[in-house]
Parts: sequence; structure tokens; C-alpha cells
Amino acid sequence: MIFNLGSINADHIYRLPHLPAPGETLAADNYHRTLGGKGANQSVAAARAGQRVCHIGAVGPDGDWMVDLLEGYGVGVGHVARSDTPSGHAVVCVDDAGENAIVIFPGANRALEIADVTSALGGASPGDWLMMQNETNLQVETARLAQASGMKLAYSAAPFDANVVREILPFVTLLMLNQVEERQLEQEMGEIDVPQLLITRGADGAEWRDNASGEVVFCPAFPVTPVDTTGAGDTFAGYFMASLAQGLLPNAALRRASAAAALQVQRPGTAEAIPTGAETAAFLA
Ligand code: ATP
Repeated sequence: MIFNLGSINADHIYRLPHLPAPGETLAADNYHRTLGGKGANQSVAAARAGQRVCHIGAVGPDGDWMVDLLEGYGVGVGHVARSDTPSGHAVVCVDDAGENAIVIFPGANRALEIADVTSALGGASPGDWLMMQNETNLQVETARLAQASGMKLAYSAAPFDANVVREILPFVTLLMLNQVEERQLEQEMGEIDVPQLLITRGADGAEWRDNASGEVVFCPAFPVTPVDTTGAGDTFAGYFMASLAQGLLPNAALRRASAAAALQVQRPGTAEAIPTGAETAAFLA
């Protein structure tokens, strides 16, 4: 079982002739709403990879549709709490040139209660993975509980915040970064000591390192023509962790995650673009 303490967001996407100027009122040409949030995306990817996933998170009174969607993708939602705070959401304005302006309201994602986490992790066994990203409250408390239960923590340092990383790092088994976050980490924290590191570099592939043994595995990206790379990193993270949990070695897990991400970037959307395990296997074959 993988446990994932993560955000669940409603993405409200507005297509506009131009981004609104201060004081301007502007009608959108088009609107659609999708499930988002790094946590939700990673849970969907791991579930699509055939892994049992227990999502730990919260939505507000407006969030039932997101829980239904997660469940439809095969994610365990028994520990998604209902909060009085509105669900986390993003207002995404996109203009005709593809430029965007985004407002994020963390909402219920930052209103989790420790009792929700404790009861979810009560079902964990030593050796189970806990995934986390930097979009919820209770990260340090959850990491501490996981360590006490003998779990392993895979942490996506995104959005990057050096102060949060410093607090979480003592509990981390696997730190996951993209190349922007890798640069931020180097600039703000210098050399860090973590057992394993996963760095994704978009079309330049991905690398996993075991710092104890010195083993380094590199996996090139598949040469594809992307239409929308939003969520590629979360697809990769979810597939990689599911594959490790299913007993694959890091090189096979990297290859499978690269294949899933290569399929995902060729489709529009985020969670809805994450391929199934069967689609990924067919692509690899
Ligand atoms: P995002 O923020 O867009 O969700 P990210 O920056 O966290 O993504 P990336 O490092 O850009 O993550 O991409 C993750 C993985 O997805 C890469 O390691 C690669 O396997 C795959 N990928 C991303 N972009 C491409 C691409 N253009 N072609 C093929 N594979 C890609």
C-alpha cells in the first residue's frame, strides 16, 4: 500500500482574449473545470499503475465531485476528510498567446487535522511508502508519524520552499525534484544528505541516485511530440513509486515512469491524461 498526503484542487480554467489588467472586467471565451493538485495527480498516477493507494487529504463542502473522480481512477478515498473550509482551487487565466496568470487558494488542503492522518496511517505496515508534496499542512507531523511506523518517505519538494525541505529532510528516504527545484536546492541549501534522489529533467530524461551505494541510474525520455506537459512530473512520480512498491528495480521503475509520462504529455489535460497501466505496458512493448 502507498499512502499519499496530498492536495486536491479544483482547477478553473478560463480562456481569455488577454489577461485582465488591474480594474478590468473581462468575459471569458471558454471555461472548464478539472481535478488538479499535485497530490491528487500523484495518487491517480500510482493507482493507474495498478497500485493500492490511500489518499490522505481534505476537500470542502464543494468537493464531492473531486472525491468521486479520484475514486473513479481507483484511488482509495476513505481518508479524504470533509472540511468546513472551501476546497483548494486554482483560477487559471490563459490568453490567446498561451500566457497565463494563476491564483491558488489552498483552502481545505491546509486545514487537515492530525486525527485524520493518525487514523489513515493506522493502516500502514513497516516498509510501506508515504508520499508527500508541499501543498498541505501537517507535513512534519505526518513524516514523524510515518517514521515511527517504520514507513519510508518519498517527498516531492514542490512548490519548492527551502525552510520546509530543511524540516522534512531528516525523515526523507527519497527526495524527488525537477531540474528547477534541483537548482533552487543547490542555490539555497548546497549539498544535502538524503538516502535516495530522483531528478526529472523533462525531455532530457530522469536520474535516480542511491547515495549510500553510489549507484546512479539514468533513463532518457522517450522521443515524443508533447501537446501539454502539465502534470508530467506527477505522472512520473506516481508511476515510479508504484513500480518500486510493486518490487521493480529502479531502472525498470524509471523506464515505466518515463513511458507513462511520455504518453501523458501527448494528451491535453492533467489527471485525465494519465495513462493506464495497460496503455503504458503496450507503449513499452
Ligand atoms: P510539470 O511541472 O510540467 O508537471 P515537472 O517539471 O515536474 O513537470 P519534468 O521533469 O518536466 O517534470 O518531466 C517529468 C518526466 O516526464 C521527464 O523525466 C520525462 O520522462 C517526461 N517528459 C516530460 N517532458 C517530456 C517530453 N517533452 N518528451 C518526453 N517525455 C517528457
